[in-house]
Amino acid sequence: MSEIKFPIYLDHHATTPLDPRVLDAMMPYFTEKFGNASSLDHTFGYKASVAVEDAREKIANAIGARHVEIVFTSGATESDNIALLGTMSKYADRGNHLITCVTEHKAVLDTTRHLESIGKKVTYLPINEFGEIDLQELESVITTETVMISIMFANNEIGTIADVQAIGDIAHKHNVIFHTDAAQAVGHIPVNVESMNIDLMSFSAHKMYGPKGIGALYIRGIKPRVKPDSIVFGGGQERNIRSGTLNVPGIVGFGKAVEIAVKETDSENKRFREWSDLMLKEFEKVGGKLNGHPTNRLSHNLNVYFPGIESKAIINSISKEIAISAGSACTTQIVEPSHVLLAMGFDEERAHSSIRIGIGRFNTKDEIKYTINKIISSVQSISKIKI
Ligand SMILES: *Cc1c(COP(=O)(O)O)cnc(C)c1O
Repeated sequence: MSEIKFPIYLDHHATTPLDPRVLDAMMPYFTEKFGNASSLDHTFGYKASVAVEDAREKIANAIGARHVEIVFTSGATESDNIALLGTMSKYADRGNHLITCVTEHKAVLDTTRHLESIGKKVTYLPINEFGEIDLQELESVITTETVMISIMFANNEIGTIADVQAIGDIAHKHNVIFHTDAAQAVGHIPVNVESMNIDLMSFSAHKMYGPKGIGALYIRGIKPRVKPDSIVFGGGQERNIRSGTLNVPGIVGFGKAVEIAVKETDSENKRFREWSDLMLKEFEKVGGKLNGHPTNRLSHNLNVYFPGIESKAIINSISKEIAISAGSACTTQIVEPSHVLLAMGFDEERAHSSIRIGIGRFNTKDEIKYTINKIISSVQSISKIKI
């Protein structure tokens, strides 16, 4: 066994470490290449602008978009806000109805709650035990008032991957705008805005080994052309959709992270699938049960229920050596059962007795084996205390 460096990080749905190659690419833009990408009167600004456009091109290519369709934001949260608020505002003459689903990230759900408070109508589609919406149901709730559909690409707790292409088909058949929160998908699985009929897509660098505080919103330019209203006003950057001086080092790092992902995710996914299958097989031997879809989920995701064992007890007992999550990181300050597990039809006991593991690029097989043993002995000792 090679030496393991503790603590082992296995919470890659919350955030990922910066890839050292990304940091290398970013460094000059903190120091000598510090220019403002909008200051095109001199070489400082020009160099920054060239770097931004190069990153924009890489990101656009990776998702089948054109470079003008990429708007840089501070992250997926802001992208979700622009997509939902901006679209419902811009197309208010078409209607006041939005369709989403109950397992969305808070960045979408809190935004739709706000939309409801200003008079918009929102339909929250339920999901099945695997975290999937029913496509017939989706089609049946579309009305003449429906402006947009927002359904996440891959779930951040259970990893379930939506049938985005079919959802986009339905949206376009009814002349409805389709937004997807792809923060957990881009850089991990193939995403193509053309073949998948996506009109708006939110994603974020720090979920794919890039820096925090930089993300993007893809906005379809043709067939149909979509143009959400802006929600931030100022210098008119990013085609007036998102004003504010561009985060040049962040954008450069984002571009590099995407470039690496395009080359490496295929082989990574094979490795992650093998490891998550192995973990599940071992956890099942001590009563563990999978939360989520057995195959149609992110390869690096594993959400497991240990009946009768509180997830906090497992997490506390291993936390010096292993970092995992009890559910969605954004809600761990509040001791609330996961809204995703409850929506799957599970009770509060199951929601409080489930852990989420997110494998990442720099994990090793030895770390996975160590984690398996550690969690199993933690589960065994906790159940002994209970008896
Ligand atoms: C992390 C995440 C977000 C928020 O992204 P930020 O870039 O941190 O704002 C939104 N949606 C999903 C599905 C996420 O996983």
